[in-house]
Amino acid sequence: MPFYDRNNIFARILRGEAPCTKVYEDEFAFAFNDIYPKARIHVLVIPKGEYVSLVDFSQSAPPEMIAGFWRAVTKIAERLGVADGYRIGSNVGPGGGQVVFHFHVHILSGPRT
Ligand code: 5GP
Repeated sequence: MPFYDRNNIFARILRGEAPCTKVYEDEFAFAFNDIYPKARIHVLVIPKGEYVSLVDFSQSAPPEMIAGFWRAVTKIAERLGVADGYRIGSNVGPGGGQVVFHFHVHILSGPRT
């Protein structure tokens, strides 16, 4: 498993050290708009914990965190009002296109931009 860098940009956003447009927060998850949206709605959801990727999260996070995080993802989608539906994705590792190594889920809805 790759090393978790505490200075990655999403860790800094979570600590309030870097700006973002916040969409949602609870004890398990924090969500904000993607800075380079690839659809009309493009929100990133991150867990409040140090997990490099989906694999790290799935293998290392406590069950309450895993349940709380995924419940937050669907709650956020509902709150975004994406009545037509949405898609979620998570890039895993450099080969999967992951560039920020704090696990995150993309919520996208609407036409691709
Ligand atoms: P990945 O390829 O790692 O799944 O996606 C990282 C995402 O983070 C990209 O869609 C990128 O636009 C977004 N991103 C990178 N840096 C920042 C930032 O500083 N603020 C926000 N809000 N999004 C960022």
